[in-house]
Order: sequence, then C-alpha cells, then structure tokens
Amino acid sequence: MAFKIGLLGLGTVGAGTAQILLDPQGRHPLLQEIEIYRVGVRSLDKPRPVELPKGLLTTDLETIVTDPHVDIVVEVMGGLEPARSLILKAIANGKHVVTANKAVISRYGDEIFTAANQAGVYVMLEAAVGGGIPVIQPLKQALSVNRIHSVTGIVNGTTNYILSRMQTEGGEFSDILADAQQLGYAEADPTADVDGLDAADKMAILASLAFGERIKLPEIYCEGISKVSAADIAYAEKLGFAIKLLAIAKQDLPTPEKGTPDTETRNFAFLQVRVHPTLVPKTHPLASISGVYNAILVEGEPIGQVMFYGRGAGSGPTASAVVSDILNIAAILKSGGDAAKLHPLLSCSHQDYCANRQGRRFAIAPMEELVTRFYARFLTLDRPGVIGKLGTSFGNHHVSLESVVQTGIHGELAEIVVVTHDVREGNFRQALDEIRTLDTIDSIPSILRVL
Ligand code: NAP
Repeated sequence: MAFKIGLLGLGTVGAGTAQILLDPQGRHPLLQEIEIYRVGVRSLDKPRPVELPKGLLTTDLETIVTDPHVDIVVEVMGGLEPARSLILKAIANGKHVVTANKAVISRYGDEIFTAANQAGVYVMLEAAVGGGIPVIQPLKQALSVNRIHSVTGIVNGTTNYILSRMQTEGGEFSDILADAQQLGYAEADPTADVDGLDAADKMAILASLAFGERIKLPEIYCEGISKVSAADIAYAEKLGFAIKLLAIAKQDLPTPEKGTPDTETRNFAFLQVRVHPTLVPKTHPLASISGVYNAILVEGEPIGQVMFYGRGAGSGPTASAVVSDILNIAAILKSGGDAAKLHPLLSCSHQDYCANRQGRRFAIAPMEELVTRFYARFLTLDRPGVIGKLGTSFGNHHVSLESVVQTGIHGELAEIVVVTHDVREGNFRQALDEIRTLDTIDSIPSILRVL
C-alpha cells in the first residue's frame, strides 16, 4: 500500500522534501511506502535540484488537491493565496494536509482547523515554526501534560544573524543588513524579518498550541530590530547582556492590583504575547544562540525548563520537519486509524480546552500592564544635576533604577544609560513623558525591554 503525496511547490522546501522521499534508504522504513504522486509548480521549464520521475509536474494545482488518488497534500508553495484556498479545497476533498506556511496558519488557522476537524482530516505544521526543530509535536504531545507558563523563542534566523554580527563586529544595523542580503541571509525585501512580523506569525502558532487558545495575529505586540544601534549592543555587552529578537508568550497570573479579566471565571488569566528586541542576560540559555540558529525555551509545571535548538530554516532541515508530519499521518493511516475519529494529540484540540467555558480562557494583557525591566539610553546636556533630575522623574512614577551609567560625551551632549528594576510599562512610559519635558534632555534614542 502506497500513500500518495500531492506536493504543492518544488522550491527550497519542496525540493528538500522530494529528496528525502526519493531516498528512503537508512531512514524510517515506512518512508518506502510514501510515493510522490503529483507536483505543482509555477514553471515547468525551471531547472530543479531534484530529479523526479517523468510526468509528475503540473501547473494546475487544483487538479492535485481534487485528485481522488492523493492521500496527503503537502503545501510548500508559500504566500497567502492561492495557498489558503488550495489547503481548504484539499480539506474539502478529504485530503490530509501538511504545510510549512506560518503566514497562512497564523492568519487563517481558525478557518483551516475548523474545516479540518469537520472533514476528519489532519493539518500538520511542524515546519512552520523553527524549520527543522521539532517543537510543534512536543507541544502537542510530550509537553501537553504540563501547565505551560511561558514560551520564549529566537524564531527568526535572519534577525538573529544580524544581531549576532552586530555583537561580534560592532557594525551598524543597516550595514550588516546590506551585507546579509548580499550573502543570501536576508531577503531583498527584509521587512517581514526585521520588523518582527515573521516572528509574530510563528509566535501566534506556538502560543496557540502552548496555551490551548487561538491567538490572533493582531493581538501580538510587535517591534522589530531596525532601531537597535551599535551603541546599544556595546552598552548591553558591558552591562552583561546580549540583544536578541525574542518572541514571548507568558501567562500572567491575576494579582489583586490587576484583578482578573473576568471576575466570574477565576481561572481566567492574562496572557502576554509579544515580539521585540530584548536585553538577555548572558547567563540565560537564549543569550548564546547565535547566527541563523533558532531556539525555543518552554517553561511549564512540573517539567521546568526545556529548550529546543537547531536550524530554523534551509532546505534539508525544513524538509525533515515536513516529512516527519507526512510520516505521522502515514503511520496513522497504516495502523487503520479511523479518519472520522481524529487522534486527539495530533488534531487541533482548542475546542476541548474551552469545552467547559464560554469563550476564551485567556485575555491578552495590554502592554502598559507588562511588568519588566527596561534599558534606556538618553542624550542630555552636559550639566551638573542631570542624573538627579532623571532619578526624580523616575521616582515620581514609581520606577526604581538598578543602574545608571554616564557613558561618554558626544559633542555637547552626555550619554546616560539606565537599567530599571521591574516596573509596570505604563509607569515607565509616563516617567519618560515627564523626562522628555526636562530642558536638559536632548533625546531618548533607545528604549529596550530586559528579560
Ligand atoms: P520557494 O523556494 O519560493 O518555492 C515555492 C515553490 O512553490 C516553487 O516551486 C514555486 O514554483 C511554487 N509556487 C509558488 N506559488 C505558486 C503558484 N501560485 N502556483 C504554482 N506554484 C507555485 O519557497 P520555500 O522557501 O520553499 O518556502 C515554501 C514555504 O515553506 C513557505 O511557506 C515558507 O514560509 C516555508 N518555510 C520555508 C523555509 C525555508 O528555509 N525556505 C523554512 C521554514 C518554512 P516554481 O518553482 O515553478 O517557481
């Protein structure tokens, strides 16, 4: 019995997927029962890095998702449309789906998983987050017996590459980005990466799985790395930190001050979901993740900390994740899995987390309620008493300072770097508003959160 694959896309990930499937020797024996049946592409004439049996390629992708012989549709074409419509059509035609498309899942996950559950088919997405790193399956299965407290990840290789080089070479963001583009580590249009949007797509997926909640993309606070300067990297280094673009989802338990989002359901809690450049203490496990590598740190009860580390992109690593999903589905089909009864650890189970409740389990915490440490860099007039005035303004808004360093003179201006203790973001912002009105303050070039 062979399981027939309809592959949508034969680019970086599609070709890697085909390479594994065409060369099963030494891998799991079940791979020998998986057959690439059709392959959809845009251009039939393009040279391909993989040699396929003749006659598999087509530019008519609809015929693949409706073909009665196809068991599993593997969507590795990317983009929102026609990927979304083809996935939905595949589901409507009773096909299981494997996708690497974080953009489609983070935006249309609701629609896609609802349709899949109704149709009794699986939609698997291991490759959508962290490339080759197995993190989706662990969250769905091995870690699902834990109460997850937080998921913190370096999930975008391009920004981690840029920040790592800024740290080791001391260069400015724009110069290193241009070099990364030349070397092929950054796209010609790097917006999705450097503005944190790709990381937000991935965090929408991770947070949804970790917390049993469908987190919507617009609910994620998102700040990119383009304002991180060489000066900030150098000061962070001196203070014992590395700057990383972190994607964070963290349960924020109710406190008497904050109250609960819904006083009638006591278990209802706040969830922070955010992507921003962050000062990470050098002793933290994520501080040493450098270059294009990704890592995801999960903290839960009772397991404590677990970290997943590896290549977050690339043909082979991402294809490894895609084929692992194909293999999982093939294994279920082979063992006679009843399609009408989806395996509860592999299908989407948000509805079960919410079964005994009306609506959502979590409310997204507003950023002004976030309690964290901050790093801020000020340019001030070089006059006596400036630090005292800064301290008074912070004190007026209950912001206490962990360290204040006058770092140097730039022409007429002095540079002062401040790290706060834990503070409510709303209070910190109010203090900054007051500080901006001081006649000795020229500007505040950087404000960054500290892990
Ligand atoms: P890619 O190299 O650009 O390949 C896309 C493939 O899809 C090409 O074969 C292309 O055909 C085909 N295609 C695209 N639009 C099409 C259309 N409208 N009709 C027919 N064929 C179409 O992309 P990729 O890097 O493999 O990425 C694929 C997916 O994997 C994306 O969702 C991406 O986010 C995700 N992903 C990629 C990586 C990575 O390292 N690249 C890592 C993790 C996840 P032609 O070849 O004929 O142009």
